[in-house]
Amino acid sequence: MSTTGLPPYDDTNIFARILRGEVPCKRVAESEHALAFEDINPQAPVHVLVIPKGHWCSFADFSAAASEAQQAGFWRLVGQVAHGAGLEESGYRILSNMGVQGGQEVPHFHVHLFGGRRLGRMVQ
Ligand code: C5P
Repeated sequence: MSTTGLPPYDDTNIFARILRGEVPCKRVAESEHALAFEDINPQAPVHVLVIPKGHWCSFADFSAAASEAQQAGFWRLVGQVAHGAGLEESGYRILSNMGVQGGQEVPHFHVHLFGGRRLGRMVQ
């Protein structure tokens, strides 16, 4: 068990399977470093997940261990998805749940992109 409360990376997790094409997804965008797809249980009119192409359990792992190019490529795609969804005028939210206490359910680092409606305060 790591300090995040998550076990070591396990490539049978659902997002690893989506990355390998074993499980379908509604793909929004893709680059060398990341894949963006619609969340299966959307919490806003726009709810996209962006995941890096690599074996990182959480933001803690990704930010500490991914290369500069991987990190830059990942965040570039997050911005491109927000831009492509036309969210820059209205605003949007990016969020990553980190570890057990942070509410993370899928142990492959991902960012949620929410938009398309006025978003309330949501820290609980
Ligand atoms: O950040 P957290 O790990 O809690 O969120 C996982 C997200 O992955 C959820 O919003 C869930 O709806 C989404 N999900 C998905 N497709 C799956 C499994 C989970 O979009 N097959």
